[in-house]
Amino acid sequence: MQNSAFPGVLCASARGNNRRVIKLDGDLIIAIICYTAIVGIIIKALSIICLFHFSMFPCAGREAQFQTVSENERQPIQPLLINNPQMNAETIQAALSRALEGAKIPSQMAVAIRESTAGASAMTGPFLSQLDTILKDHDPYLRILVDKNTPLPADYEPEDLVELRHISYRAGVLDPMLLRSRAAAALEEMAVAARSAGHNLGISSAYRSYEYQADTFEFWTARMGLQQAERVSARPGQSQHQLGLAVDFLAISNNIAETPVGRWVSANAGRFGFSLSYPRNYEEITGYAWESWHYRYVGEELIAFIDTWFSGIQHYALSFIHEWENTFSETVN
Ligand SMILES: [Zn+2]
Repeated sequence: MQNSAFPGVLCASARGNNRRVIKLDGDLIIAIICYTAIVGIIIKALSIICLFHFSMFPCAGREAQFQTVSENERQPIQPLLINNPQMNAETIQAALSRALEGAKIPSQMAVAIRESTAGASAMTGPFLSQLDTILKDHDPYLRILVDKNTPLPADYEPEDLVELRHISYRAGVLDPMLLRSRAAAALEEMAVAARSAGHNLGISSAYRSYEYQADTFEFWTARMGLQQAERVSARPGQSQHQLGLAVDFLAISNNIAETPVGRWVSANAGRFGFSLSYPRNYEEITGYAWESWHYRYVGEELIAFIDTWFSGIQHYALSFIHEWENTFSETVN
């Protein structure tokens, strides 16, 4: 070891672990080279470890980056109308045309809607005001379209299912019947009203899971063949029952339509937010034969919207909303 005006610097030689002290002059240069080499090797080693790690666990590390990007991309322009600076008369008319065409709204209905949205006061007109109120509801499943072209994901299961226990609507005694809490509360009110009108409001079916739908569809297909099963039963994911918002009132038979209680349901369900999903003579539109017993809870605002602008045909209104919301998410993606 030699004397030096500077503290010695340790450097591992390339051939072993021999250590030597480096002096300021010529040795200092060697020391700097050694340090640079060591730092380089460490950086290289770290990058190899990182590459290996990310290739083994693609969700680690990279996920955070993807999430940030995709969340930004997924942020649609809010399809709300009132007090939305991104909305103007031109944007609204373009979206309206697209949604009316996309949802195949019959021309007579489309004309009335267009008339309500024409002119300077369109934004505060009845159609757009009602639509705005519906879109502001925090629960998108209330208005989501579920049909043969737009199924729910297999893993969709509502979070607030409650068991129907009250005797006033004679829920089944064998299997527990479940509905989402807001639909269950509306059903309870409706059952009380039915009873005061002298009717006993029974229901035959409520929430159905994806798996249950798969079994049901398989059962009907085996029994009546695929073509007929498609008319009366939903493929898994295509049933409104998976929403936990649909109920089958009374018996599953159109014979009930002309009974006193059947007529009461038809005349009063809307007051409690229940809308007939598959009306008579609309099979081409809804995809299903007439089901006088099948109603979907959509809430009172949406019922008013369906009745006022879409002649009570739920499928038209939900298709229109579906197209409207898609229009605004597509403008970003
Ligand atoms: Zn049903």
